[in-house]
Amino acid sequence: MKAILIEKAEDTQAVSLTDVAEDQLPEGDVLVEVAYSTLNYKDALAITGKAPVVRRFPMVPGIDFTGTVAESRHADFKPGDRVILNGWGVGETHWGGLAERARVRGDWLVPLPASLDLRQAAAIGTAGYTAMLCVLALERHGVRPGDGEIVVSGAAGGVGSVAVALLAAQGYEVAAVTGRAAEADYLRGLGAASVIDRSELTGKVRPLGRERWAGGIDVAGSTVLANMLSMMKYRGVVAACGLAAGMDLPASVAPFILRGVTLAGVDSVMCPKPDRLAAWARLARDLDLAKLEEMTTELAFAEVIDTAPKFLDGAVRGRIVIPVTP
Ligand code: NAP
Repeated sequence: MKAILIEKAEDTQAVSLTDVAEDQLPEGDVLVEVAYSTLNYKDALAITGKAPVVRRFPMVPGIDFTGTVAESRHADFKPGDRVILNGWGVGETHWGGLAERARVRGDWLVPLPASLDLRQAAAIGTAGYTAMLCVLALERHGVRPGDGEIVVSGAAGGVGSVAVALLAAQGYEVAAVTGRAAEADYLRGLGAASVIDRSELTGKVRPLGRERWAGGIDVAGSTVLANMLSMMKYRGVVAACGLAAGMDLPASVAPFILRGVTLAGVDSVMCPKPDRLAAWARLARDLDLAKLEEMTTELAFAEVIDTAPKFLDGAVRGRIVIPVTP
């Protein structure tokens, strides 16, 4: 089978699209024929070696995929079932989706919702499923449409694009933060009510700023998240899921203790199965599939390795799907 393989000798990482014997696949009770994989920020980190995402070598990257069950020893899945995989360390500690076949634990798989096809589910991918987890976190903490604007950072990226579309579909007024002014029309097309230049969130962080937003979804971390927190309205809620700007958080406790702001952490990788099923059910119900198509670009399997560095330059818009064996 064809696979992207990351190998490491001493300190040097090599990545190639190569032939791998199927018997080299890791342990697992379900073998999946991968239809589509995708490219997420984390995959770009793994392929370029810019961050220690890969914990074992050689590694097939690809933190998510969709496909059809070829063989199963798991009670919930039989050959022919269509499935989704997101996270669980796949592409980090367990061979991932950028291969024609993947062997995984059946407990990790989510059945494809009836209203989505394999390409659409891949287009949503880990980025879109994480965006949904963020929306659910806002809801869980009591944020409702009508409370005020919801700010979304990294809006033209994968998580951000899906978050904007999902929030707009729910009737929220969305303020989309982007470093790319040229994407303003794209963001309005996804449903953003306003587009904010990223520089408004990268300046000096004050303990408290003007109360602007009722909620936020942040993919950036660092100064962007700190500024977002300082500009939340009383009892505002921010769902934080990313580190595109940095791992640090140069904030003060003022938003929490003076405005009752909530910072809700979102992790998609080890998220328990019931929450995944709930997120995918909501994605199937709420995401406008025409908007999903608008934010999706297809990339040939053979082009993945060369495209990965562009991701880290913030030059990729929306979501990328890779037809593997569609
Ligand atoms: P992506 O498609 O590359 O989007 C990231 C976006 O962030 C970029 O498109 C850019 O949007 C913005 N950005 C880039 N550099 C920035 C900077 N220095 N400061 C502020 N914004 C910056 O990546 P993604 O797949 O959506 O993932 C986004 C983040 O979420 C990543 O950090 C990823 O690791 C994280 N993530 C976490 C989870 C989880 O389980 N917690 C799951 C998925 C993703 P604009 O050009 O519009 O500004």
